[in-house]
Amino acid sequence: MLILVINSGSSSLKYQLFNMDEKTVVGKGLVERIGIEGSVLTHKKDGKEFVIETPMPTHNEAVKNVFDALVNEEYGLVESIEEIGAIGHRIVHGGEITDSTLIDEQLKEKVREYAKFAPLHNPAGLAGVEACETLLPGKPNVAVFDTSFHQTMPASSYMYGLPYETYEKHGIRKYGFHGTSHKYVTKRTAEILGKNPEDLNVITVHLGNGSSLAAVKNGKSIDTTMGLTPLEGLIMGTRSGDLDPAVLTFLMQAEDMDAKELDTLLNKESGVLGISGVSSDFRDLEEASDAGNERATLALDMFIKRTRRFLGAYLVELGKVDAISFAGGIGENSDTMRASLMKDLESFGIVLDEKKNDGLRGKDAIISSDDSKVKVLVVPTDEELMIAMDTLNIVEK
Ligand code: AMP
Repeated sequence: MLILVINSGSSSLKYQLFNMDEKTVVGKGLVERIGIEGSVLTHKKDGKEFVIETPMPTHNEAVKNVFDALVNEEYGLVESIEEIGAIGHRIVHGGEITDSTLIDEQLKEKVREYAKFAPLHNPAGLAGVEACETLLPGKPNVAVFDTSFHQTMPASSYMYGLPYETYEKHGIRKYGFHGTSHKYVTKRTAEILGKNPEDLNVITVHLGNGSSLAAVKNGKSIDTTMGLTPLEGLIMGTRSGDLDPAVLTFLMQAEDMDAKELDTLLNKESGVLGISGVSSDFRDLEEASDAGNERATLALDMFIKRTRRFLGAYLVELGKVDAISFAGGIGENSDTMRASLMKDLESFGIVLDEKKNDGLRGKDAIISSDDSKVKVLVVPTDEELMIAMDTLNIVEK
């Protein structure tokens, strides 16, 4: 079956067409500047790029142009759009929805409800869904949520130390994100180690522009670092991660900041960018740090310390850990970061093999020494493939 995966953001839309019989990517592309002057679609087939510049005021025109590109005589991927069996959509916030779900009116209503916690992402995801419903009627659309893998967390992990009414009235709790990645990495780790996911305890470490860890027990998430929104937990590219909540009330008073300004400060101006003043990109930070920039070094040290703190927490929470798996742009590519995170953990049964780690980029591999009790792995994540697999599962049911 051919499955189209759509990841729609507020002004962008990424797509990939999968042949699920062979688990291969047939082609993919990206629409940028939806609703802004200069809308552009970049379509890729057989390593070649085709650029289509045409006004796309809404997601409807964006999806229409994607469908046109998919059947284009020169660079199309299918003869008829009807060959596509189903469409899988990435939806950021699914609240307490526990699994990927076939989209109907009731589900859309829930996605609209959870837009209160993801005001930019959920409406964009829905716009992509509705464009597909209009332009390709009768084909199943499946929602794959960033949150659903973590809905196996016990209440003791997901509740905040706030009055219980804030949960009952507003749904304020930890939901967790990057779930599609944590699920994929868990599944791949089990495959690589020759285990069933149900028999696997793993700490999945997704380090990229946004970063999160998950504690996975018997294949199920029991804790994760992101919260009500992706802001909680690790220090990230531009997000603050955990801080004393009193910082916010202090800033409101001292700097007269309102909710919108605080939101921008915490999400866009903080993290390693805010600390270093250099960049949110870890390659730039490593370069600046090597050149003697002290604040770049501080940002990296803080990132490492915070990430190790959660590793320690999850080692204890899980008790027995079979594996630690690194994914995401940093986790997959930075051998120095992996080495820093795994340093001096021999007493926990974690021993990195430097030779296996050095220079390893973007490939599945076990990078711990043969006698390491806890296996350390690099597992390049593939959220799009996971969305396609979930979509196939649902439509086959
Ligand atoms: P992602 O959000 O998963 O695409 O990850 C993007 C981030 O990965 C970038 O901001 C970079 O900081 C980081 N990254 C990519 N390649 C490398 C590398 N070779 N060394 C260090 N960081 C890297």
